[in-house]
Amino acid sequence: MKWGAARFVAAESLPKTVEVVEGLNKEGLVVALDHLGESVESREEATTATQASIDILDAIQSSGVDSNVSVKLTQLGLDIDEEFCLENVDKIARKAKETNNFLRIDMEDSPRVDVTLRIFNTLLDRYGKEHVGLVIQTYLYRSEQDVLELGKKNTNLRIVKGAYKEPARVAFPNKKDVDDNFIRLVKLHLQNGNYTAIATHDEAIINHLKKWLKEKNIPDDLYEFQMLFGVRNGLQRELVKEGYKVRVYTPYGKDWYPYFTRRLAERPANVFFILKNMFRN
Ligand code: FAD
Repeated sequence: MKWGAARFVAAESLPKTVEVVEGLNKEGLVVALDHLGESVESREEATTATQASIDILDAIQSSGVDSNVSVKLTQLGLDIDEEFCLENVDKIARKAKETNNFLRIDMEDSPRVDVTLRIFNTLLDRYGKEHVGLVIQTYLYRSEQDVLELGKKNTNLRIVKGAYKEPARVAFPNKKDVDDNFIRLVKLHLQNGNYTAIATHDEAIINHLKKWLKEKNIPDDLYEFQMLFGVRNGLQRELVKEGYKVRVYTPYGKDWYPYFTRRLAERPANVFFILKNMFRN
């Protein structure tokens, strides 16, 4: 399993990760670094995770690589205490502002959306849209309303389909509806003049949006494509060649297990990819 995870995880240590980012930058890709981990159970673990993201921002500044940072609030103590989590993520957001960088808050499962929005809005008021942004999942019925609300504050949003198992009570059970909502919400946010990270590996959606972006003359500096490290590598580089900005979400660290198993669940073919390579080597 660990061997398989290497396809989706940059490295275990920060210095090695910075080398990987340098390599991606050389290929014209920009990066979002994520220190792996979620759902910590103790304050000590949350404090350590907070420091890890601050260290990433320092390493980005000192190495000069082109990367920002993503975090998950459950890693920063969300399930322990909301106020404690806010204190932690505030330290990272402050560092992001000090180093002229950007902090993206990932979105986790649906029971955590409201509290994530509360914390995010506090940070947005403190640090501004140039330094903090959020993720919206198009499988949730509520997301259109959230995009409209966040749009009023010109929030920088990463739009994704959503990676968690959700009940039909809160999320579209049919993939087609999730896909249609993805396209709808990307267009909505962009037409309201807001920065949008189009985060998908879905080539049909990407092609549809490329055409639409041209037709509507959406400025190049209002959007970027985003994909996961190790997924659709060829497509990432093709988009760069065509002149699009592409950011690779690049996880690193030792706590790779939950992240890796989500990638496998999304696409069981990944298991075969790993097995094939195991037998080859
Ligand atoms: P899908 O319809 O799942 O896939 C379309 C095609 O993409 C597939 O046919 C296949 O060709 C390719 N593909 C998709 N996934 C894989 C894979 N794992 N391996 C190989 N090929 C694949 N989700 C959240 O809930 N919260 C977040 O904060 C979050 N952040 C994300 C950040 C980024 C940059 C990205 C790219 C995704 C993020 N996700 C997040 C995950 C997202 O919600 C989806 O689960 C994931 O992107 C798969 O959906 P898709 O849009 O690529 O389309």
